[in-house]
Amino acid sequence: MLATYYQDRSEIRVGKIDVPDIINPSDAIVRVTLAGICGADLNFIDYGPEMGVEQGMRLGHEFVGIVEAVGKDVTNVKVGDRVVASAMFVDGECHHCSRDLPSACETGGLFGSPLFAQHGGPDIQGGQSEYVRVPFANASLFTLPESLASEETDHMVLPLADNFATGYHGALNSNIQEGETVVVIGDGAVGQSAVIAASLFNPAQIILVGRHDSRLEFGKTKAGATHVVNAKTMDPIEFVKSLTGGYGAMSIIDSVGNQDSVSQALAMAHAGGKLSILGFGHLYAPVEAPYGEALWKNLTVHTGIVNVAAYMKKLLPIVESGKLNPGVIFTNTLKLADAVKGYELMGSRAPGTVKVALKP
Ligand SMILES: [Zn+2]
Repeated sequence: MLATYYQDRSEIRVGKIDVPDIINPSDAIVRVTLAGICGADLNFIDYGPEMGVEQGMRLGHEFVGIVEAVGKDVTNVKVGDRVVASAMFVDGECHHCSRDLPSACETGGLFGSPLFAQHGGPDIQGGQSEYVRVPFANASLFTLPESLASEETDHMVLPLADNFATGYHGALNSNIQEGETVVVIGDGAVGQSAVIAASLFNPAQIILVGRHDSRLEFGKTKAGATHVVNAKTMDPIEFVKSLTGGYGAMSIIDSVGNQDSVSQALAMAHAGGKLSILGFGHLYAPVEAPYGEALWKNLTVHTGIVNVAAYMKKLLPIVESGKLNPGVIFTNTLKLADAVKGYELMGSRAPGTVKVALKP
């Protein structure tokens, strides 16, 4: 079967490998029908040696598909079910999982990455492939409701595996109140998802801060931002203040997490404001944030990895209701065999490209 894997720094390949088998009784094998390329995948391949990525490691943590086989302990899904996977496979029963914090699962891991792999076993597989072995299938796979269980709806559901759930995590943790102002920093797939998710909380305005005109236009026309600002040509702090009577925004979601974005988020916050920092730019370059701003302005700063498995049961009915379509973030769909081109499109921020889906 075909699978995408890491070859060397900034180099991935698509090649033939063996179809995976069930190893543990809690495993399932899923035949992937659609997979996503995530901004995090770009980081894994650019910072491979620093992050412990080894040659041959399979990539991809966003996928939907059909259950092909199950181990004897799997009871939540059955062969033939159309499913979406949590980007992190989780046991569903440890100390943290039982407190709705599956991102801290004591035995889980992230598909297609070395992160959390200390507990993930020797064979962590990626979703950008024809088949994938899913550990702890009972807690890591979610059977899709009938109206979302078709090839036509795969794009709508796939972002729930990570990017849309992450945007929702930001919207939730920036505690958006009806009628207030929300700022989203970053115009990539997570930023766009945060804009879409923010609309669930009925803010008065959603301001998207980015650095790419085509993505900002996308944010306005497709994701639902009321205002956009290109930080390369205009000071986003002044822009936000100009739209909030000089006071700043109550809710800010930072999908970038680097020096600039964290500083901007703190500076553009209204007193008593709430910041949700989703991005992990600080893993690659240290951030010296002006935390004095947080003290003087009584800010609440939340950060953390999305708890996909805890959100899925809430998000699937929202998508099913037709209230929103997370699938709009996919601007390109390529064959799995063309994954290298997909990585190039996303890595170069090609105009018109926000996120790429791969079809095995
Ligand atoms: Zn757990």
